[in-house]
Amino acid sequence: MTAQLIDGNALAHKIRAEVAHRTAALKARGVQPALSVILVGDDPASDVYTRHKVKDSTETGLAATLERYPATMTQADLLARIRTLNADAAVHGILVQLPLPRHMDTHKVIETISPAKDVDGFHIASAGALLVGQPGFWPCTPFGCMKMLESIGCELRGKHAVVIGRSNIVGKPMALMLLQKNATVTICHSATADLGAITRQADVIVAAVGKRNVLTADMVKPGAVVIDVGMNRNDQGKLCGDVDFEGVRQVAGWITPVPGGVGPMTRAMLLVNTLEAAERVT
Ligand code: NAP
Repeated sequence: MTAQLIDGNALAHKIRAEVAHRTAALKARGVQPALSVILVGDDPASDVYTRHKVKDSTETGLAATLERYPATMTQADLLARIRTLNADAAVHGILVQLPLPRHMDTHKVIETISPAKDVDGFHIASAGALLVGQPGFWPCTPFGCMKMLESIGCELRGKHAVVIGRSNIVGKPMALMLLQKNATVTICHSATADLGAITRQADVIVAAVGKRNVLTADMVKPGAVVIDVGMNRNDQGKLCGDVDFEGVRQVAGWITPVPGGVGPMTRAMLLVNTLEAAERVT
């Protein structure tokens, strides 16, 4: 068996079209959904990511501004800027690009963003809302993974879902989202003994580790759905995931490619969250 591909580019394209449609409807009622992106410092990857976020937004009709500050910016100044944006009714979403310079307290910075504008879903109030099943913003990467599962008609109720990785931005929220859909969830991490023994029981596997070949064909039950969040470089310097794609695709039922899988979905879900932030206050 060769797994079917879950095409993140195609699904993201569809979601962006839906966002554009809903944005146009909001604009017709006199509301311009708007995202403010803040970049502190000159990390090259962050520079690319933030420019993508602004470009994606403007292409779908959302207003987006990128504010760049030097790495020497004080934390007090950053917090003051966030508070000004919190109070600005014309701004619906605020995103502070991570990582921040070392002299800043990331937790404090994120907690200063109004939960109503926390479109990255990293605020503790957003995490709490997800935990207790209340409305809030879901972190874009696991939210995108859920959309991918939905797109293939994957019924999660009663299924065993295994999440590899327990970060606050991917693994933990991913597990909670799967739980909310009535999957039986196992979370694995660096101290997990015999990862393969657990993943072989899984109907759905989400790999969010950041290491190549964490999941190989012998660790996958035939027909399982495999979502690869990882972003790594192979020996040739090409982007690859955590999953041994060529091996696992011979066993799995569905698989996401890297690139062209979770990455574009993460970008699309930021647009969804920003639009929803605007819709919620109008
Ligand atoms: P992270 O904060 O470094 O977390 C990695 C997790 O993997 C940790 O929980 C760690 O366990 C676990 N782990 C490490 N080695 C392991 C092993 N051998 N077996 C099982 N678990 C292991 O990373 P992250 O931010 O969650 O990101 C994970 C990956 O996803 C990275 O490659 C990142 O670049 C990628 N990513 C992609 C997107 C996208 O849009 N495509 C978005 C976000 C992240 P401990 O907790 O025990 O240390």
